Amino acid sequence: MAEQANIPPDQGAIRVFGDPVLEQVAARIDNVDGKLISLAEDMFRAMYEAPGLGLAAPQIGVQRQIFVWDIDDNPQGIINPTIVESSGEWVYDEGCLSIPGMYVEMLRPRRVLVRGISLDGDEVEFEADELLARLFQHEIDHLNGVLMFDRMTPDQRTEALKLYEARDLRPNSEPIHLRLS
Ligand code: ZN
Repeated sequence: MAEQANIPPDQGAIRVFGDPVLEQVAARIDNVDGKLISLAEDMFRAMYEAPGLGLAAPQIGVQRQIFVWDIDDNPQGIINPTIVESSGEWVYDEGCLSIPGMYVEMLRPRRVLVRGISLDGDEVEFEADELLARLFQHEIDHLNGVLMFDRMTPDQRTEALKLYEARDLRPNSEPIHLRLS
């Protein structure tokens, strides 16, 4: 057997970088029905198992515009979300369950206003800043097939992919923290 140091740990149901489903634009959802609720339940399960703060449907292989999150023990989900306003700037070390073992310092708007449909089928609007605003922007990127690597300049992307391929995924190893500035 070959040395297995660089084989990713079991990610459960979560798709990782390289899986084409992560690069596709998710389809809008027309009906909030039982099937959608069971999809949301699957997503929460995968998110808590990982564990992570947020999860978009493409990350479990489903090309639908829905993501779920839980910050401060308040599980929520949103369907067909769009960013209608954004302002300010905020730098944050962003992680992604689909890019395990790596954090990337990214600059994005500090505040966003997001509109969509709740898991109950009602129109909802969220005004968010800092961590929650970052989570919304990151998850909406997933619904558009956009990963952190796609938000880098070509040089940054080349460097990031090199580090990503060489990262150490053994238990207890330190994740990579990549600074882009
Ligand atoms: Zn992600």
